[in-house]
Amino acid sequence: MTEAISDTKAAQSGARKAGATEETVVVVRLGEITLKKRNRPLFVRQLGRNIRHAVRGLGVRDIEWGPNRILIKAGPSLDWPELRDRLRRVFGLQNFSLCQRLPWDVDAIREGVLQQAAERSFESFRITVQRSDKRFPGTSQELERMLGALVKEASGARVDLSHPEETFQVEIMPGGAYLHTERIDGAAGLPVGVSGRVVALLSGGIDSPVAAWRTMSRGCEVAFVHFQSFPYLDASSRDKAIVLVRELTRWQHKSRLHVVSFGEVQHQIVASCPAPLRVVLYRRFMLRIGQAIAERERAEALVTGESLGQVSSQTLSNLATIDNATTLPVLRPLVGLDKEAIIREARELGTYETSIEPDQDCCTLFTPRNPATHSTIAQAEAAESALDVAALVKLALANVETLEFSWPEQAQA
Ligand code: ATP
Ligand code: MG
Repeated sequence: MTEAISDTKAAQSGARKAGATEETVVVVRLGEITLKKRNRPLFVRQLGRNIRHAVRGLGVRDIEWGPNRILIKAGPSLDWPELRDRLRRVFGLQNFSLCQRLPWDVDAIREGVLQQAAERSFESFRITVQRSDKRFPGTSQELERMLGALVKEASGARVDLSHPEETFQVEIMPGGAYLHTERIDGAAGLPVGVSGRVVALLSGGIDSPVAAWRTMSRGCEVAFVHFQSFPYLDASSRDKAIVLVRELTRWQHKSRLHVVSFGEVQHQIVASCPAPLRVVLYRRFMLRIGQAIAERERAEALVTGESLGQVSSQTLSNLATIDNATTLPVLRPLVGLDKEAIIREARELGTYETSIEPDQDCCTLFTPRNPATHSTIAQAEAAESALDVAALVKLALANVETLEFSWPEQAQA
């Protein structure tokens, strides 16, 4: 998870917007992707596509690849606060910095560092030099000492290696030295798209948006399915699902949400099957319908927000009974998390406030007083023998509303 989106340090550097020049470059450092060997070109291509999409319309001139780095070349019209927010939501980035590119030359570096130091007020500082281009004369340490002495003299500030107020960082790469004072955490993970497609079952609750987000962070492109009991219940859960998908789309740029009318399926389960099994049977139908939608979406797995033991339908035996209704793998990224940890993630993600708004969720329709905490596949199959399962799935699939989302909404080419 990334740090909170609006910290003061980031807000301050937003003030630099007006100061962007031809030499302003965002240096992006890659995360796990650098560990890939054979698949690396594929990962890199996908990440490039995702970054290009994210930066549209923000005054970026060019994107260049360096060794384990991406250089986003900005022009004078760079909208840095917006670019920063968008890059924070691109999976696969470890961190990034707004840099000033200086010529590959000691005097130029000296001058650049002194100028940046003069623009800031600080009482303690440190200099960090990284030479990824080893042809540059001198060692990193020698350069650090030399620049440190200069800044100390010019500013009167003291050197503090452990808790400096300002850190001037110089990265020397082929063709230039990149000077910056801040590394912004990226979302890490893998670029969306490299792990294939999945369908996430999205309720209006707290858990499923976090589960979907976690699969995105592992490189999956997520399509969403929401079940509503309209007209038995109102459309409030659908409205919440829409807001949640809009928020989650910021992390993958394009999404589809399929809203399934589920009331009739529930109605028939209630009329013909034992009450304690209702919730497990609802879930089995959700997975069957989810699988059919996954086929349309060319998706290879289903995702739910279930966590072990959280509610009665989430015991091991019930999960096994539920899984039996689909041949697709069911991913449950939250399986080992407790509710507090999930809530923390939902807050950081920005979905929590929407999720806790009251709604009429389909699972609250005809919920039995004593739902079964234990079930077997045989019991579920016996209960379903009273239903025309295939016809019910078909009926639900005939009533799907599909909504498209894209972000940024008014992206310019
Ligand atoms: P959530 O907070 O995601 O609703 P939950 O803890 O309330 O989860 P359940 O209500 O048992 O758990 O639902 C388990 C999972 O089933 C959800 O995480 C979600 O993936 C799926 N699910 C439940 N209701 C719906 C729905 N109306 N539409 C789509 N998926 C649903
Ligand atoms: Mg729920």
